[in-house]
Amino acid sequence: MSSNAAVPPAQSPAALSRTIVHKFGGTSVADAERYRHVAQLLLAREESEQITVVSAMKGVTDGLIQLAEMASGNLAEWRERWHDLRARHRGAAVALLSENAGPTLEWMDQRFEQLAEVLAALAVIGELPKEVLDRVQGMGEVFSARLLGDYLSACGEDCAVLDARDILIVDRGDLGVDVDWLQSAQRLADWRKAHQQQRVVVTGFVARDRSGRITTLGRNGSDYSGAIFAALFNADELHIWTDVDGVLSADPRVVPEAVQLSALSYDEACELAYFGAKVVHPQTMSPAIERGLPIIIRNTFHPEHPGTRITAERDGSGPVKGLTLSPDLAIINLEGTGLIGVPGTAERVFAALRDARVSVVMISQGSSEHSICCVVKSAEAQRAQAALLNAFAHELTIGQVQRVQRTDGVSVLAAVGDGMAGQPGVAARLFESLGRAQVNILAIAQGSSERNISVAIGGADATKALRAAHAGFWLSPQTFSVGVIGPGNVGATLIDQLRAAQPQLLGKANLDLRLRAIASSRSMLLDERGIGDDWRERFAQNGQAADLDAFTAHLLSAHLPHAVIVDCSASAEVADRYAGWLAAGIHVVTPNKQAGAGGWDRYRDIHDAASGSGARFRYEATVGAGLPVISTLRDLLDTGDAVVSVEGILSGTLAWLFNRYDGSVPFSQLVTEARGLGYTEPDPRDDLSGTDVARKLVILAREAGRTLALEDVQVESLVPESLRGASVEDFLGRLEEVDAGFAERLSSARAAGQVLRYVARLDGEGRASVGLVALPEAHAFANLRLTDNIVQFRTRRYCDNPLIVQGPGAGPEVTAAGVFADLLRVAAGQGAKL
Ligand code: ADP
Ligand code: ASP
Ligand code: MG
Repeated sequence: MSSNAAVPPAQSPAALSRTIVHKFGGTSVADAERYRHVAQLLLAREESEQITVVSAMKGVTDGLIQLAEMASGNLAEWRERWHDLRARHRGAAVALLSENAGPTLEWMDQRFEQLAEVLAALAVIGELPKEVLDRVQGMGEVFSARLLGDYLSACGEDCAVLDARDILIVDRGDLGVDVDWLQSAQRLADWRKAHQQQRVVVTGFVARDRSGRITTLGRNGSDYSGAIFAALFNADELHIWTDVDGVLSADPRVVPEAVQLSALSYDEACELAYFGAKVVHPQTMSPAIERGLPIIIRNTFHPEHPGTRITAERDGSGPVKGLTLSPDLAIINLEGTGLIGVPGTAERVFAALRDARVSVVMISQGSSEHSICCVVKSAEAQRAQAALLNAFAHELTIGQVQRVQRTDGVSVLAAVGDGMAGQPGVAARLFESLGRAQVNILAIAQGSSERNISVAIGGADATKALRAAHAGFWLSPQTFSVGVIGPGNVGATLIDQLRAAQPQLLGKANLDLRLRAIASSRSMLLDERGIGDDWRERFAQNGQAADLDAFTAHLLSAHLPHAVIVDCSASAEVADRYAGWLAAGIHVVTPNKQAGAGGWDRYRDIHDAASGSGARFRYEATVGAGLPVISTLRDLLDTGDAVVSVEGILSGTLAWLFNRYDGSVPFSQLVTEARGLGYTEPDPRDDLSGTDVARKLVILAREAGRTLALEDVQVESLVPESLRGASVEDFLGRLEEVDAGFAERLSSARAAGQVLRYVARLDGEGRASVGLVALPEAHAFANLRLTDNIVQFRTRRYCDNPLIVQGPGAGPEVTAAGVFADLLRVAAGQGAKL
C-alpha cells in the first residue's frame, strides 16, 4: 500500500476550467484514514467544478442488508450489530473531525435512531418488504457523503453535500435502472441555485423512484451514480477511483498475473462489466457513451498511476483485452427433433422466459436447430425450466420436444476485445487452452459483433479455465503445478536445476514451473504457492506423512492450467499410479524404468490413458540419462523410418569397468574402486547382474514397436550363482572368486585382437540379449571414455552406416538434465514458447 500523502497528478492548464466527477468506491473509504487520504487527493486537484460521488464505507452495505435480514428474521442480535455499525461511523467522525465532530455525531445519531425504529418494525412484521430493504441498504452512502463533506468543510473548503435521494429520479425495470433525465436535471438545477459551491459531495447508489420511494441502483451501483452525475453536471471526465490500477485483463484475485489495460473502448468495457468484471458497473457506460465522456478507472492508493481510459476509441490491440467469469449460472436446454426448421421456436422460448421474468445471460443454438440452449442465473433456473416445460407442454406430449434439461453449477467465461473482429484463430486459441487444461465446454456463443466469445463451463473448472485462457492469450505465464516424487540423488538435483532455471524460464518463455509438492516414500511437503530454494530444510522439518492421494489432490487443487508429476523414485508402486494420473490429465515425466520395462498390461494402460486424455508421458532419462536416445528413436519412427536393429552400451558402470579392464588390475579390484567413486549402486550386483541394462533394452524395443518383456531378454549375469544370495559385505569379500574367469576371457579376446564389452542387442528378428562380448579393437564400442554410453540404430535409412548417439550416460547431473528436458518438452507441447 502506498503512503497516505496524495501525490497531485500532473494537470494540464485546461483542467483548471473543467468539471470532473470523481467516484470513490467502498475500497477507497474503508476508515477515517482513507477519508483523509481521499480529501487530500481531491484538494490537491484544481478543478473549476469538482463533484465527488462516494460509496458507503467498505462492507457497510453488506452490514446493512444483514441487519435488515436479521431484524425481519427476528434475530435479536440485530441490535448488537446496529450498535457496531453506529460505533464504526461515530468512530470515523471523531477521528476525522475531533472537537468539531459534535454536529455530525448528532446528525448521525438521529439517523441511526430512525434506522433502529425501522428495524424494530421489521422485527414486528417478521418480513422484509423490498422498499424497506432499499431504504435501509442505501444508508451507508448517506453517512459516507456526510463524513467526507464535513471533513472537507473542516479543512476550510466551501463544500456542499448532495443527497441523491433529493434529486435523482429513476425507474427500476426488468432491464435495470432507467434515469428520468428531465426531472432529475430540473431538480438538480433547483438544488444548485441554493448550493453554488465549487466542491460537491454526492451520495452514490441511492435514488428515488417516480412515486417518491427510496430505491437504489443495484449492488455496485455507485459507479453508475458517478456516470449519471457526470451527465447531470455536464462533466468533462468521470474518474472512478478504486483499489486497483484500473481495469485488468482478468480479476486479479483469480489471476494474480493479470495485466493492467491502459485503454478500453466503451464496447469492450461494457462487455467486460456485463460479464462480471466487478471493477465497473455495466450500466455506467450508457450515459458516458451518449456524451462521449471519458471514464478513467484509477487507484486511490496510487494516484500517480494513469489508470485505464475508457473512451469511444478502439485501438484494436489484443486480440483479447480481458477475460471475465460469471459464476452461479445454469444451462437450460430445450431439445427436440420437432424443432428442426420450425420458425418462431426461439421466439417462443424467449417469450416464455421473459414472461417468467428470467433474464438470459447467453444463448446458443446449433445450426441443426435440434436444440436451443440458454444460460440463466442459478436463482432463476428453476423458474426458467418450469416456464419452458409449460410453454412447450403440448410439444412434449406429442413428442416434438424431447426434453427441457437443466444443468446447475455453471459459469460463463467470456473473452472480450474489439481486436477479435475479423481475426481468425482467436476462438481456436481459447478452446485450445481450455482443452489442454482439461476443461469441458458445455456451450459456446459468439456475438456477431465478434467482440465477445463466451463459453459455458462447469463451475468447478471455472478458476482453472480462467487461468488457462489467460495464459493461452499470453496475458500471463504458462503455469504448471509440479510435484516431484523421490528427492534422492536425481530428484534433488532436478529440483535444484529447476529452481536455478526458474527466473530465465519466466522471463524468456513466460513459463512458470511451480514446484508445489515433494514426496519421498515416507514423507511429503505440500505448498499452495510454490516451494522455494529452502526446500531441503522445509522438507526435512515440515514434511507430513506421505500419501500419494493427498499429493495428487493437492497438485490438482491449485486450479492451475496444468499439472505434472516427476517420478524420480525407482518404485513400482509409484509406476502403478501413472495410468490414473495420466487419465486425470496430469503429465508424467520420469527416469524410473519400472513402467517402461515392467508388465505389458501396465505399459499399455499407461499409453492408453495418455492418448485418451492428451496428457504426456515422457521417460527420456530411462535410457542413457540425459542423452537424446528415445527422442532420436521417436524422430526416426515419426518420419517414417523403420528400425532394423539396436545395439549399445547402456550401463555407465559396466562401460567404465570394461574400458579400464586391461588385465593389469584384477577385475574385483576395479569393482571396489568403481564403488568407491560412486559409479555403482550400493550393491554392485545390481549393475553386474545386467538386469538394469536389460530393462533399458526393453524400453528401446517397445519404443521401436516390439512387444518385448523383460523375460524375453537373454541376460548374461556377471555375478556367479554362488554369490547371488550373499550379503553385500560377503559378496564384496568374496569378489576375488570372479577374477580368474574374467582374466581368461580377456586373454582369449586379446589373442584375437579383441576387447571385452557388455553390450545390449536387439536384432532384426526381434531377439534381445545383453551380455559380455568380444569386439574388434576398432569397433565403435571399443573406444569409449569413462562412463560413456553409446547406442547404435540401424534403420532402413541408416543401413550402411548406423546412427550413433554417444556421450556421458550416468550421474545425477546429466540424468536430472534429461528429466528436465522432458519437462520442458511437455511444457512446449502445452503451448509454452521455448
Ligand atoms: P469499489 O469498492 O472501489 O467499487 P470493487 O470491489 O467494487 O471496488 O471493485 C474493485 C475490485 O474489482 C478490484 O479490487 C478487483 O479485485 C475486482 N476486479 C474484478 N475483475 C477485475 C478486472 N478485470 N479488473 C480490475 N479489477 C477487477
Ligand atoms: N455500496 C454499494 C454496494 O456495496 C454500492 C457501491 O459501492 O457501488 O453495492
Ligand atoms: Mg464497485
